Amino acid sequence: MAEETIFSKIIRQEIPTPLLYQDDLVTAFRDISPQAKSHILIIPNKLIPTVNDITEDDELTIGRMFSVARKLAKEEGINEDGYRLIMNCNKHGGQEVYHIHMHLVGGEPLGKMLSI
Ligand code: 5GP
Repeated sequence: MAEETIFSKIIRQEIPTPLLYQDDLVTAFRDISPQAKSHILIIPNKLIPTVNDITEDDELTIGRMFSVARKLAKEEGINEDGYRLIMNCNKHGGQEVYHIHMHLVGGEPLGKMLSI
């Protein structure tokens, strides 16, 4: 059984964090350390530690994450200029929180995709 992270506490609002979106499958809130003018995290309510742990049963949830990203990008007013969706996996991917999350970043030009 995977160990819960701070994100589970945010989902349950045990750590009060303003939520931009929540339904039965996913939750979204602003990143505490924004890397661009808009930086939102979209996460499954269910604890899935890494992208490697996604199963076929999670396909509805993963699809919902994209639908919510699209909706929030529009609400942020960044959909037309564009944005980037990022999911980091494990050490080489730079994952810090082991509860999968989609970064929605935009609001300004983001430059090239990778800086290694
Ligand atoms: P990762 O590197 O795992 O892909 O990204 C984790 C992200 O979670 C980081 O961008 C970090 O700033 C964000 N983060 C970590 N702890 C918290 C928190 O307690 N609240 C919020 N809103 N974001 C967090």
